[in-house]
Amino acid sequence: MRRGFYIGRFQPYHNGHQAVLEGIAEEVDEIIIGVGSAQLSHDTQNPFTAGERVLMITRALKDLGCPAYVIPIEDLRRNALWVAHVTSMTPPFDICYTSNPLVIQLFKEAEITIKSPPMYLRETLSGTAIRQKILNGEDWESCVPPEVVEVIHEIDGENRLRTISETD
Ligand code: ATP
Ligand code: MG
Repeated sequence: MRRGFYIGRFQPYHNGHQAVLEGIAEEVDEIIIGVGSAQLSHDTQNPFTAGERVLMITRALKDLGCPAYVIPIEDLRRNALWVAHVTSMTPPFDICYTSNPLVIQLFKEAEITIKSPPMYLRETLSGTAIRQKILNGEDWESCVPPEVVEVIHEIDGENRLRTISETD
């Protein structure tokens, strides 16, 4: 049984993440998705709760054809212990898929195999760009899977993001 691990904040989960996971699904038997900074929500860089992000990801991956475990992981803010923190919360895995230099370094030191997936349309497909589009009232819906549009509408996420970006 080969399991792959993929971590992000997924604020929100978008088509770049989906493309990466579709590729990972071809290479492993099961996927573990870590929802990072799980404790954060309701701020402009992290508008959605861990539970809302779990909903987005789980619904978007329903037809992936590869079992996926979606696990919220709170920040530890102690990098030297972070891999142990992650592995204490997840099923065992063989490969970590990431392009983040810090995550690569920490997993390398823990002697866990790393693979760096390619970036898909990084200019448009980034959480930062999508949050900005929501704030500007531009088309963000085409950047995320339809299930994510559904979740964000269900929780009135556009209005939440606009409200929390205002000042008093
Ligand atoms: P933010 O701008 O909020 O940081 P993000 O788009 O970088 O959002 P994250 O949740 O930070 O998304 O990233 C999770 C993982 O997904 C990271 O390893 C990141 O490199 C990767 N990733 C982000 N965008 C893409 C993309 N367009 N194609 C492939 N991988 C991506
Ligand atoms: Mg990022």
